[in-house]
Amino acid sequence: MIINLIEKIEKLKNEKNAIILAHYYQPLEIQELADYVGDSYYLSEIARDCKEEIIVFCGVKFMGESAKILSPNKTILMPVVDAGCPMADMANEEGIVKLKKEYPNALVVCYINSTAEVKSHCDVAVTSSSALKILNNIDKDQILFIPDKNLGGYIEEKLPDKEFILWDGYCKYHNKIQESDIFDLKLKYKDAKVLVHPECRREIRDLADYIGSTSGIINYATSSEENDFIIATEEGILHELIKKNPNKNFYIPGNRICCEDMKKTTLEDVYKTLLNMKNEITIEEDIRQKALNCLLNMHRYAGDKNEVTI
Ligand code: SF4
Repeated sequence: MIINLIEKIEKLKNEKNAIILAHYYQPLEIQELADYVGDSYYLSEIARDCKEEIIVFCGVKFMGESAKILSPNKTILMPVVDAGCPMADMANEEGIVKLKKEYPNALVVCYINSTAEVKSHCDVAVTSSSALKILNNIDKDQILFIPDKNLGGYIEEKLPDKEFILWDGYCKYHNKIQESDIFDLKLKYKDAKVLVHPECRREIRDLADYIGSTSGIINYATSSEENDFIIATEEGILHELIKKNPNKNFYIPGNRICCEDMKKTTLEDVYKTLLNMKNEITIEEDIRQKALNCLLNMHRYAGDKNEVTI
């Protein structure tokens, strides 16, 4: 039955010359189905550069929006229309406009986990893997950082010469990881290295042997000579970690760190989306143009030579 469905999706994909992208936090069968799996920065580059005109984006809404902002002439389809990012939804236009008035000289920075509307009010976007490099490359002393106070706080620690004003947003999954979750695992696996996503709270980051994005964590574990790792991020990353490192051991702290919105996508959703060409992402052109500037600056300041020109 599942194999049948996968075959039907593959056939449709080829007929329509479509491509399927999936984030590392998507369900395992979606990651297996996808042409490319990665973090949001990598996927935004694939969406921009791929030759296919139809992109099925298995992730949450801001990711599909980023693809549409960068590639307005491509058709971006989301298998689940209400898969959003609760952290992205913590920021709003009204609050940003107010903050910009209070800090008129500040650089306004948003994590890529933000809506198109929020991006349209920001100077530059960052990802967890590029934030430090980008903010280091920009000669501004005052930074408004939206919406993740944990990632913003992490960068603030690394750039003590800059003043950060942090939006009070957070990922409710990463934010709930407790120190005791890490200590419990450390008691059992005392040699395990602790790899932490910067969306975690400072108390958790302070326990880390390595702090980085999902791709950074995968690369670290894969190139390491160690065998045991405590992984403080969403559990979907385990699929790629185990695939790349079948002989190593990975432990997730707490009960489960499982993003409900990321796990909404089913094979049936992907099939119906492609079949009916539904759930297309659309963005008002004036918002897209402003948000595009914010994303172009991200690629520019991250040192990306393959810059978009529209
Ligand atoms: S894991 Fe957190 S930041 Fe990522 S999509 Fe889910 S709520 Fe948003």
